[in-house]
Amino acid sequence: MSAATPFPANEPRDHALDACFLGPYGENDALLEKLLVEFLRDHVYWRRNFHPEDPPAIGTAAAHHPDYLAFESRMRRELHQLSAQLKKSVPFHSPRYIGHMASDLLLPGLAAQMLTLPYNPNNVSEDAAPVTVDLEVQAGLQLARMLGYPHDPAQPACAFGHLTSGGTLANYQALRLALALKAFPVALRAAQAPDLALPADDWAAFNLPQAETIALLEAWQGWLAAQSPAERKRWIARVERERIEQRGLVGFFAAHPALTVPKVLVPITAHYSWSKGAKLLGLGRNQLELLPTAGMRLDADALRDTLARFARERQSVLMAVAVLGGTEYGTIDPIDAVLAARTASRRTGLDFAVHVDAAWGGYLATLFRREDGSLRSRDEVAADYVAFPTPAVHAAFAALGDTDSVTVDPHKLGYLPYGSGTFVCRDHRAMALLAERADYVFHGEAAGDYLTRYRSLGQYIPEGSKSGAAAAAVYVTHKVLPLDHAHFGRLPRATVRAAEAFHAGAQRLALELADCAHVLVPFAPDSNLVCLALNPAGNTHAERANAFVRTLHDELRSDPTHPLQLKEFFGSVTSLRPDLLGPAETARILGALGLDPATLGEGGADRLLILRHTLMNPYLLDRENGISYIDRYFGFLARRVRALVGNAAVAA
Ligand SMILES: *Cc1c(COP(=O)(O)O)cnc(C)c1O
Repeated sequence: MSAATPFPANEPRDHALDACFLGPYGENDALLEKLLVEFLRDHVYWRRNFHPEDPPAIGTAAAHHPDYLAFESRMRRELHQLSAQLKKSVPFHSPRYIGHMASDLLLPGLAAQMLTLPYNPNNVSEDAAPVTVDLEVQAGLQLARMLGYPHDPAQPACAFGHLTSGGTLANYQALRLALALKAFPVALRAAQAPDLALPADDWAAFNLPQAETIALLEAWQGWLAAQSPAERKRWIARVERERIEQRGLVGFFAAHPALTVPKVLVPITAHYSWSKGAKLLGLGRNQLELLPTAGMRLDADALRDTLARFARERQSVLMAVAVLGGTEYGTIDPIDAVLAARTASRRTGLDFAVHVDAAWGGYLATLFRREDGSLRSRDEVAADYVAFPTPAVHAAFAALGDTDSVTVDPHKLGYLPYGSGTFVCRDHRAMALLAERADYVFHGEAAGDYLTRYRSLGQYIPEGSKSGAAAAAVYVTHKVLPLDHAHFGRLPRATVRAAEAFHAGAQRLALELADCAHVLVPFAPDSNLVCLALNPAGNTHAERANAFVRTLHDELRSDPTHPLQLKEFFGSVTSLRPDLLGPAETARILGALGLDPATLGEGGADRLLILRHTLMNPYLLDRENGISYIDRYFGFLARRVRALVGNAAVAA
């Protein structure tokens, strides 16, 4: 198939998307206004109906008092100033914005959040949020279903998910939970917990597969439940004293000299939140083991070699992280291969958690889900695209359900307001180990108790007080747009198709500019993030190529000192580092760009700047007006490249 025609011209427009957003032009203003007024009134009636016999505490004449009027005018003045300043904001809503991971907001989420705000629920616990705590737990189950985790709370091994301020905190929560699970069997041994089939030594205890640790935890809870209250209290205290959460890393590892502080294996493409997490947990950044990639996707051979070495050295491993949609290049790691490497590693006695950082790509999983929750075959998915999904990408999504935990950001590809990341773990029973209160005896709960337990959400999450409005936004959005290919999936479908059109457009641009510049898509996009490397023809110096891309990017970045309207398009920039790329990939990319390898790395520029485009806006291909903002962008880029190359030629 020709790469130039990924979009059949006669394809019917997807009207289901028309009511999703406020719209680039504010097209749905009347709809949003209607919703806001309706639910503001509804909220006011709720206040009045609480105790209608209570008279208004603010007198009906109060609004005429000079102090009232003075306050109102000050408030208006400041709000007008704020509103005026906000006009310098980045126009995420526009199809001319293809920069960072942001776009328009889904109306159901925006409206749900705005309508919930005046009720001000605090999801730290049900006392402060009788409604929205449940919605948060339900939203976790909605995401669990999307990921292929067990999501029936009546089943003991149901998944659990909760919101965080963002992906950074969700990744941190993954580290916390993995460490709690890893260290718990060691604590049980140290406390000589009776009547349990405990591992033979500390090394085996520290390398117990999560499922076995959870079984051990269940058995322990069962044993405790059968004791008298006094005995139970004594035994809980005895085990608590040995836990890593009580002793801290220093005390714990001093007490268990056979164990080393565990490593966290992340690909070099990993987000810097992993560095923050390692510091926050006290592991230290030295414990982050950066794994090489091939084409910016985690290199499974290198992972296997590293695991074999660690098994030989008895270096323990906390978790291996696979990235589903890398922040810089949008690439998708081979999650299936990471799971296979763990299976192999288990045979050598080295076990660890597998976490997927899907902060960016998580919602792409909707493309792979049928409405009944089952997995779509690659052929089924591929029918909508030119090349997506590659067999490797399909295999990665198909393997999600076998991982231990996942980070997904509703405030990225979920098109929701900031303040909503999520952490989802496959088996909720592990969460008992994170509880702040040590009375983790949930044994023998009835099925309905799943929701009851998590109403004390503050017990389990890294944060304390948190927004119930954000939870309402996520839950309502998932109800309006269920997380399968026929509903929510239409959004990522539009963006992946846009990315394919963008990739084809980049290839056309390369031909068009062949006389004056090298243009290269360095990695075939796995999803909806596409990078572009550029170098003026005849230039062999990486430093000059960087200056060229920097000048281009200056025209594509937000600049609060100039009117927004002067910007034609918004893009972002990232870089390629030869030390991370490896020699083969570096040679391939520099060769295609006509750059001298000696000018990058040792003694030269330490990295190569490239343009980065996040294709989230569903109106990049505007069928109403027959406009392709992608074609317009490439037209703009061609003009700018020619002008810059021409100027350089004149200057030289
Ligand atoms: C954005 C991102 C994060 C961090 O998420 P925040 O919501 O910004 O805290 C982590 N990992 C990946 C892969 C991301 O894209």
